Amino acid sequence: MAGRAALGPRLPLPACRSRLLQTHAASARWHLDAAVALDIDGVLVRGAQTLDEGRRALRMLSDGSSALGRIPFVLLTNGGGVSEAAKAADLSRRLGVPISPRQVVLAHSPMQALAARYAARHVLVVGGAGRRCAEIARAYGFGNVSTPDDVVAWRPAAWPFMAPPPAPPARPRDYAADPFHAVLVFHDSFDFGRDLQIVTDVLRARGGVAGGAPASRQSVPLYMSNADLIFANDFAQPRLGQGAFHVCLRAMWAALTAGAPLEYTCFGKPFRVQYDFAERLLDRLALDAAPAAAPARLRARRIYAIGDNPAADIAGANGAGWTSLLVRTGVFSGANDPTHPAAAVFDHVADAVEWIIASERARQEAA
Ligand SMILES: [Mg+2]
Repeated sequence: MAGRAALGPRLPLPACRSRLLQTHAASARWHLDAAVALDIDGVLVRGAQTLDEGRRALRMLSDGSSALGRIPFVLLTNGGGVSEAAKAADLSRRLGVPISPRQVVLAHSPMQALAARYAARHVLVVGGAGRRCAEIARAYGFGNVSTPDDVVAWRPAAWPFMAPPPAPPARPRDYAADPFHAVLVFHDSFDFGRDLQIVTDVLRARGGVAGGAPASRQSVPLYMSNADLIFANDFAQPRLGQGAFHVCLRAMWAALTAGAPLEYTCFGKPFRVQYDFAERLLDRLALDAAPAAAPARLRARRIYAIGDNPAADIAGANGAGWTSLLVRTGVFSGANDPTHPAAAVFDHVADAVEWIIASERARQEAA
């Protein structure tokens, strides 16, 4: 991973910044030489709490009142379990700026690329509340989707600890005659025990048949969306995330198979697929703002990533060649991360955005 340890240099900012922000009318002027990707949890919000610095940061980027005008930005989160449209609407309301679904990259958003391969093939979609992730998968183009709830509704003995068992889906099916072709973990498991059981059932069963006899090797591909071990919310200590489910699943698989490796493809930060997806969204935003923008200009832009998790946000941004900015409002506190050092570290996201604007202004003036 690229990246050098450095404490955030505080570039000089205008003395009357807040008055400048008020007196510049909102403009349609864009600064396309830079773009910003902001993490959400621990940066703009902490669980149910919306951070004032998050509101201020997004206003600076989006209302055109900064010295640079508007700067394209996306929200790049390892969260999920909702549609991009629902996330955009919720954050627009909470943060007080308009956010389009085309500015939201959820952990599972790039899984859309798998939909062509599995358009008609039966997949198990895991994680999140109820059957909501199955609906998201269908909206992505997966046309034949079931959930662990559906399997337990079919045979309550498959996980005999749910009382009462889940309600059957609108169209019950016989999973003994309806094999799975892939398992996709879209979001945090809301029932670790049940999901470990049903996922290992499908991965182990010959031909991917739930309840089928164990095969000698993994039966179907596994895709997972977010390797974060922990995340920050409004509890005093970080909470276990989907990465904890990965740890449990790997350990369970090793115990059940005498140490055979579990093969899977992981989406989400810090994996490159997420950054390629975000760059395509930023390209589209820039081309919407300036349809005549030359491709060479987009390739030359600087992309700044702001996050609170060194292992996800900073490692991924450094690997993608972006400028990584670490904030102390989430899972990280301290001077800088020794393993995944950020280019600069700030107390909160508004300071990070002010630093970006000042850096870009300094480049303009030096040019
Ligand atoms: Mg975060």
